[in-house]
Amino acid sequence: MKGICVFKFGGASVKSAQAIRNLADIIKRYSNKNVLVVISAMGKTTNALERILSFYLQGNVSEMEAEFNQLANYHLTEALDLANGEKDSLLIAGINGVLNELRAKLNTTPLGDYDFCYDQIVSYGELLSTKIVSNYLIMEGLPNIWVDIRSCLISDTNYREGTIDYEESGYLCQKKFSFISENLYVTQGFIAGTPIGTTTTLGREGSDYTAAILANLLNASDVTIWKDVEGVLNADPKIFPNTQKLNFVSYQEAIELAYCGAQIIHPKTIKPIQNKQIPLYVKSFVNPVAEGTCIAYSDEVVKLPPVLVLKRNQVLVSLIPRDYSFVIEDCLSKIFAILYKHKVKVNLVQNSAISFSVCVDEEKRRLPGAIEELGKEFEVKYNSNLELLTIRHYTQQCINELVGSRVVYLQQRTRSTARFVMDAKF
Ligand code: ASP
Ligand code: MG
Repeated sequence: MKGICVFKFGGASVKSAQAIRNLADIIKRYSNKNVLVVISAMGKTTNALERILSFYLQGNVSEMEAEFNQLANYHLTEALDLANGEKDSLLIAGINGVLNELRAKLNTTPLGDYDFCYDQIVSYGELLSTKIVSNYLIMEGLPNIWVDIRSCLISDTNYREGTIDYEESGYLCQKKFSFISENLYVTQGFIAGTPIGTTTTLGREGSDYTAAILANLLNASDVTIWKDVEGVLNADPKIFPNTQKLNFVSYQEAIELAYCGAQIIHPKTIKPIQNKQIPLYVKSFVNPVAEGTCIAYSDEVVKLPPVLVLKRNQVLVSLIPRDYSFVIEDCLSKIFAILYKHKVKVNLVQNSAISFSVCVDEEKRRLPGAIEELGKEFEVKYNSNLELLTIRHYTQQCINELVGSRVVYLQQRTRSTARFVMDAKF
């Protein structure tokens, strides 16, 4: 059998009828290949669904309906454009089916906790976008199979951060994506199904991760993430001037960058492809013939320019044991157990004899619970509205330019990486 190419298209690449036409043009270039297309929700749909969810949970029906109608109109307008104005086309029928299902869900009384409800509602963005894309590709003479990924990508019930059952999913996905009768499949990123028939999500921006998992399970020959930038850059061009494209990034470097908060790819994306040595390409959907960036194995050290990663909305929490006991192994394990229990994302830690500092994401739903629990044994202080700047492959000049005389709350340096927690500026 021919190798399988996994393509991932993010929200920006499917945000409008025009963007979806462009996607179809890209797919056409690969019509002699076996292609599995993984798609995110259109544009900012996931944010809109998060708002719908909170109105739903608050029982604010009028606001919820207003948001829902806006979401429905957005999808219908773009779909109608693609269907050349034909209201009774397959394209419109396809999304109406999904919209009706979502509307019916929103008419029920919320049951279960926030994370559970989140996944049952917010997952609709990907169901909508894939319906539109799949049906449009058919219209364009690109026959394909639309797969509800929840039927074959199986996770546990850790809602909002499902853990994939690789064995079960591998078996099911190889059957689903057999590439026997078709050479093109369209499916959802970001979402998965559980053995009890509920839906989970894999964390915000999780579609890259889905593409990587599917590539692993299907032993794909490569993964391509199509983006609105020309590849992996050494900094976010929206924040820093004079960025440079990186042609080659090793798996290890990519993991480090993603972990520091680089928005290029979801942090969990590298492991599944590294484990099977599958190369990952990041390419521009605006200029699909350009080379892009290749992320793959390398045993040589590839020289890179300084790479800047900024993580916003950070909180620096400092803990001192109330009884002045040393912050050593048992105490550290207690702290981490509490952070883990509350699903607080730890970005940087530092400790001294009787104090422990940790820089975490400002997650309004998770952090207060953790701080309250930590407060029982520790004196807790914290500074919020901070940013964490990481400079990989730093030079002193680069540090001078970016940090200069700014107040630094905490810093850490290794030979390759310098990290600074500072007041928000960028
Ligand atoms: N639609 C989801 C999000 O916006 C997943 C993704 O885009 O990768 O977070
Ligand atoms: Mg998205």
